[in-house]
Amino acid sequence: MDKYLVQRKIDELGRIVLPIDVRKALDLHAGDSVDIGWEEPSKILSLQKSNPICLNCHSQEDLKALPGGKYICRRCLSQVK
Ligand SMILES: [Zn+2]
Repeated sequence: MDKYLVQRKIDELGRIVLPIDVRKALDLHAGDSVDIGWEEPSKILSLQKSNPICLNCHSQEDLKALPGGKYICRRCLSQVK
């Protein structure tokens, strides 16, 4: 397992900029969602690209892409037709 470390300062609004090398390595693009988590008591922070979820039921299965980067599962879609 390879491990990488990059230091960045957090600005006054709580933002950080992910270096381009990190974005390329993790296939992150503007508009993508990320999951941010941490472990207690170590305070180790993790960040990973979010898997798409249904905007209605949060399922990750049988999704259909909608405009604007949102997704809906076919079961929920069948209920709105
Ligand atoms: Zn759904």
